[in-house]
Amino acid sequence: MAAVSDELVAFRAEARAWLDENFPPSLSGKANAVLGVGESRNQLEGDALTWRKRLGEKGWGTPTWPSEYGGGGLNHYEARVLQEEMNAAGAFNPIAALAGMGVTMVGPTILEYGTEDQKQRHIRPLCRGEVCWCVGYSEPNAGSDLASLTTKAEDNGDYWIVNGQKTWTSGADISQWCGALVRTDPSAKKRDGISFMMIKMDQPGIQTRLIKLIAGASPFCETFLTDARAEKNDLLGPLNDGWTVGKRLLQHERASQTGTGNERNAGPRESFQELAKRYVGTDADGCLADADLRSRLSGHLMDAKAHALTLQRIAAEARGNIQVTATASILKNSATNVAQMRSELTVEMMGYQGVGWEGDGFNGEELATVRGWLSGKAMSIYGGSFEIQNNIISKNILGLPETTQRG
Ligand SMILES: Cc1cc2nc3c(=O)[nH]c(=O)nc-3n(C[C@H](O)[C@H](O)[C@H](O)COP(=O)(O)OP(=O)(O)OC[C@H]3O[C@@H](n4cnc5c(N)ncnc54)[C@H](O)[C@@H]3O)c2cc1C
Repeated sequence: MAAVSDELVAFRAEARAWLDENFPPSLSGKANAVLGVGESRNQLEGDALTWRKRLGEKGWGTPTWPSEYGGGGLNHYEARVLQEEMNAAGAFNPIAALAGMGVTMVGPTILEYGTEDQKQRHIRPLCRGEVCWCVGYSEPNAGSDLASLTTKAEDNGDYWIVNGQKTWTSGADISQWCGALVRTDPSAKKRDGISFMMIKMDQPGIQTRLIKLIAGASPFCETFLTDARAEKNDLLGPLNDGWTVGKRLLQHERASQTGTGNERNAGPRESFQELAKRYVGTDADGCLADADLRSRLSGHLMDAKAHALTLQRIAAEARGNIQVTATASILKNSATNVAQMRSELTVEMMGYQGVGWEGDGFNGEELATVRGWLSGKAMSIYGGSFEIQNNIISKNILGLPETTQRG
């Protein structure tokens, strides 16, 4: 253990020195301004572009990915140290943000199921932040019951011809690639005739139409595939066994959703308790004036702490080599509960100021709060709904019998 600590101390010094030399101070604490929030996804230029290139060259935008494909080759302890040093410098990772679903979901799945050629072609551009991916799973009649999907791919000899419609495709309008589940054998049982294909988005056979959300932004699309082309060498995993590959991607998706938000904003922040006191006021003892709110806020802070400690414990137990498993379903639901409760409490604390949509009567923080509260509702839907995670926990972790979705 002492040896590990010595290595980590040395790595911390290396990371700090590298950030000193390579992270432009002009960007410190400016993650949201540089990367855009909500509806706006910014094109990088100037120092931000330089930073993206340097980070990508070093592989530290995808710190735990193998270095032979352009990743950082770090273990999870080192990656955490790197994150701490980046936070201290006010630095942020534009690569994961620019890649859409590429770094969190598709990349890890390619690393696991891809051929050597696929890893060489697809992983390096992701590590450099040069490419954005979307995920084409859901369809108008296939959400939770994903195996009912009907988008089909037919073998044309040299390539696949894909026809159908996807929906809720996050970032489809700005992505260069889509990792899609398609039906390749309509005669097989529901889950057996599905394949995972990597499809180029920039082609005449693909059209996207933005869907507007209750929170105002349009982060996702309907995606129409009409005689779209997928190359033979872009089939990921075995033909007709895309269900296995596709489920793995979903585990990676859940694992990426175990945080409770706000991780991107580096630098000192007002604590939740301070925010509460600012809006609700304090009593003669300096405690939050509303006793009932105080009790619920304490409960929430304990839940948030328990969630954060559980994440740390899992990392420690994995000794720096975290494997994605079905436990991601527990963590995703726990993260959802914490994040949604935090939004509810914030809106409540702000009172009238927490329900503004626009206008001079509300400051930027208040307007962002109500949008965050609304958009946070999606967390219990995307990546498989709260109820679907409970089904997975009951079947795959508790070993209880399956009650629904036989197919
Ligand atoms: C912000 C956001 C981004 C998204 N991004 C993407 C994306 O990039 N790519 C993509 O492919 N999809 C994406 N989705 C779609 C998402 O995966 C689906 O919305 C989700 O799987 C639920 O499917 P559905 O909307 O069809 O709801 P339904 O499946 O119709 O479910 C409706 C309700 O019934 C419940 N329910 C359904 N079946 C069961 C069951 N067996 N047991 C218990 N309860 C059940 C659900 O929990 C839910 O409450 C996104 C969704 C959101 C909200």
